[in-house]
Amino acid sequence: MPLIKKSPSRKKVIAKQEKAVAATTNDAPKSTPTGETSTYQGYCVKCKEKGVTFVGEVFVNKSGSKIAKGPHTACGTTVCRILGKNA
Ligand SMILES: [Zn+2]
Repeated sequence: MPLIKKSPSRKKVIAKQEKAVAATTNDAPKSTPTGETSTYQGYCVKCKEKGVTFVGEVFVNKSGSKIAKGPHTACGTTVCRILGKNA
């Protein structure tokens, strides 16, 4: 079975561009706060507990999905809940 060697065309140009973008947007947060806060339920990775209630602030990430983030009152770890684009 012959091996078909692909040409080692590394996407150096794109990588360079991404690096430049990352450098310019380094200070900007990845998700934008919407200012909305509400009570949500999420999974706490520290307590390994599902359905923990937390007061979360809603963020919109780059892809337009909403995420609620807030501290778990029991341990202080940030709990996230993905709300989706239509939330
Ligand atoms: Zn916790």
